[in-house]
Amino acid sequence: MMKWINILFALCLFQSVTAQEWTCYLNDEKAQPRERLVDFKHIELDIEIMPYQHLVKGRATFDIEPLAIPTDSIWLDAPDISVLGVSSDQNDSIAFTQNREGIAIKLESPIQPGGMFKLYVDYSAHPQKGLYFVGWKDSADVRQIWTQGQGIDNRHWLPHFDYMAEKQTTELIVKFPKGYPLLSNGKLVSKKDDGDKTTWHYKMEKPHSSYLLMLAAGTYESDTITNARGLEISQWYYKGQEDMVPYTYKGTKEMTEVITDFMGVDYPWDRYSMVPTRNYLYGGMENTTATIFAETFVCDSLQYHDKNFVYVNAHEFAHQWFGDLVTSVSPEAHWIHEGFATFFHHYWLGEFFGKDEYYKQLDIYRSASFAASEKNIRPISHSGAGSARHYFKASIVIEMLRQELGEDAFRTTLTEFLKRYAHKTVSSEDFLRTVYDVTGKPMNWFWDQWVYRGGEPMVRAELTKKWGKSYLILEQTQPDSFGTFRLPMNMKFAVDGSDREMGIDFNARKDTVELSFDVKDVDYFILDNAHKLLMQEDKQQKEEQWLNQMLNDNHPMDVVQAMRNLELTDYDKELKKLFEKSEFDFVKIKLISMVSENKELVDDLLKLVKEESVEVRKAYVENCKVTNVGFLETQLIAPSYELRREALKKIIEADRENAETYMRITEELKTDHQFLYRMDWLHLAHSVEYITEEKFISEMEKYSGPGYDFVTRNRALMILRAKNIQSEKVIDNAMDAAQSFNRSLRSSGCQYLKDLDEDTRKELLQKVMLSSNSLKIKRLERCLK
Ligand SMILES: [Zn+2]
Repeated sequence: MMKWINILFALCLFQSVTAQEWTCYLNDEKAQPRERLVDFKHIELDIEIMPYQHLVKGRATFDIEPLAIPTDSIWLDAPDISVLGVSSDQNDSIAFTQNREGIAIKLESPIQPGGMFKLYVDYSAHPQKGLYFVGWKDSADVRQIWTQGQGIDNRHWLPHFDYMAEKQTTELIVKFPKGYPLLSNGKLVSKKDDGDKTTWHYKMEKPHSSYLLMLAAGTYESDTITNARGLEISQWYYKGQEDMVPYTYKGTKEMTEVITDFMGVDYPWDRYSMVPTRNYLYGGMENTTATIFAETFVCDSLQYHDKNFVYVNAHEFAHQWFGDLVTSVSPEAHWIHEGFATFFHHYWLGEFFGKDEYYKQLDIYRSASFAASEKNIRPISHSGAGSARHYFKASIVIEMLRQELGEDAFRTTLTEFLKRYAHKTVSSEDFLRTVYDVTGKPMNWFWDQWVYRGGEPMVRAELTKKWGKSYLILEQTQPDSFGTFRLPMNMKFAVDGSDREMGIDFNARKDTVELSFDVKDVDYFILDNAHKLLMQEDKQQKEEQWLNQMLNDNHPMDVVQAMRNLELTDYDKELKKLFEKSEFDFVKIKLISMVSENKELVDDLLKLVKEESVEVRKAYVENCKVTNVGFLETQLIAPSYELRREALKKIIEADRENAETYMRITEELKTDHQFLYRMDWLHLAHSVEYITEEKFISEMEKYSGPGYDFVTRNRALMILRAKNIQSEKVIDNAMDAAQSFNRSLRSSGCQYLKDLDEDTRKELLQKVMLSSNSLKIKRLERCLK
């Protein structure tokens, strides 16, 4: 495999010498769009969903226009679907054959390009994917259905040509039990009650891809707000949780305004809604006009400091343009969806929480990108590049493009790109062409090294003096297979207390730059003063220079870089000074994690930490051995569950005698929403014998059951397993978990069952074998055998 990759690279590099323009891909079969013979113009779905039976049935109507070649067959993806009949506006019954993947429809005579016709498919389905049912078979308070179309799962409940580059207008008419609000894409045309059912009619007047089709319904309520541009935004929440709305959706109005302004193109659809869902498989999904997100992001004022919805909120909203309005023609351009969504959520984090948060995230994105290159060097335009590249590296590449083009040209380019390809599909090449058309700048070199080629540069830099003259020697030391990069660098030299800036277009393996000052006067130097270039630095500085950089530079990325290059144990005094004067939580948090073993300094920092933000205090209590009971006591009421939990653990360690008092204080502060924190509290309370075994088990049993989100259930099952508690109730809950559609929950349930003794497992297996549900048997067999 590696050999083949190397040969490809050799070919590409060779071409680069002989031709001006070239594109290099690793072998990527998925880079090609899917073949299609007809164009689907409109899908109308008229269905009934019966949640108690996990059943969908009804009719799908397609408006179809054949493409250039006459065709007599149409393929629809339809796993899990029983097709009852196919007809058209010209024919009452059309022949079809069905296999596990879908149906092939055979028309009587070939249809000619240009002619439109309607095709009807009557069907029913018990979908195992794509459409999920939560809580209908239990007596749970929360009952939901929701869909997840991306990648190719909507085909499990709706037979259709399921391909992201196929865009059509859509209309969903859905009959559902009365009393459960139902959300789908686009405008709500009508809502009619009929006995104990309600029929909801939603319509999308502009075309979009079918993977973005969505449905969600259940025990919900919603609030609608309007932003300054007149966009109506519906914020859905669980019945009885209206007090969570202000924290969950914090900043939504401003975020939607700021991102729309940046795009330079109005929000492309009629309205926007967001709905939380239980046992959701990802963080969020940007269905056109209606984002679905994981219940774990629903937060109160305390969880807001631990895990909030701010970045996912911005990410999914930005996808309404990048992904939904302009869609990649094949997985080759998937980075345009995720790269821009990440670019915008990163931008918004900087606007909302400040530059500090922006750099904290950038550090994570950079590290993830470099780590990915240790496994393989697929470019961001490779379908299998992985999340670290499609999201993080791609967003940094977009940021570098912004830097290279300049702010105005970058924004004009984005706007033009969105206008030009609105409701159409794009490739990486289309984006490159737009950059050229708007700015006149040929950016092929940029696309070549950042989009079509993988790997990142590693730059070695050393100051030197020869024959009385001062130089900076730059060298690209990344492996040959990564190629040579063109790096427009803005360097900064701190010389005798003043800064000298210098720009260089470094595009060779090695370069020597003559300096106008003496190297011995250089306090320290910065290679990328704009902090944009995705390169690893191997900067040769003396210890004293690193120290100067750490103490005197005012950019948090440079300060952290210096900290990573110093033996910090020698600099207690300096580190304390740095902690005191730095404005950045990012610097303080990194500093705390690097000196956590240094007891003297840790104790010394305590006075300063007391006055710091929740995040810094959390880092301190989590990372360091803290024994100061007075300080820890004040943290027990901090506005963060995580900080409270860590402080409670530490205070009990430090002052075991008074454990009961601390448990009592924190018990009163419990809240029913944050179950993770509650379980940790129970765990601790049980181990210090503050509560009885019975109380511990009965409450933990509850959290392992179907009335809770999978994250809560996973933790409950894990704790119960660790404590070797095997009650009938927990076994039932684990059996239920082991059959879930949610893979993570399935795995926790299975782990728990595997730990049971052989006889119990045998007994359970016998019971399972009597069930008629083959998927259930299959899933449980694996855990019980
Ligand atoms: Zn995304």
